[in-house]
Amino acid sequence: MNNGNLNNKICLICRRKLEQPFDKHHIIPKSKGGKKTILIHRICHSKIHSVLTENQLKNNYNTVEKIVSVPEINEFIKWVSNKPPGFYKRTKRKRN
Ligand SMILES: [Zn+2]
Ligand SMILES: [Zn+2]
Repeated sequence: MNNGNLNNKICLICRRKLEQPFDKHHIIPKSKGGKKTILIHRICHSKIHSVLTENQLKNNYNTVEKIVSVPEINEFIKWVSNKPPGFYKRTKRKRN
């Protein structure tokens, strides 16, 4: 395992260099028993989950190729490609 070194790593969604903040995304949602994860930018990650439900991810969008083929995510990738790798638009979270 080599978790510390992000050199030469790219985000599989937007293909930009991987930098903080980034997240682990389960190709099959964890809640559906998925174990395989990929590292992607946090902004790319929140986009995936704002567009696709866990059931859609599990049943229809269980590869990176399928995810990026979704028109709304494709548009997002074009938009984010001009942003710096560490770009993340903060959204306020409600505290529970
Ligand atoms: Zn990305
Ligand atoms: Zn995820």
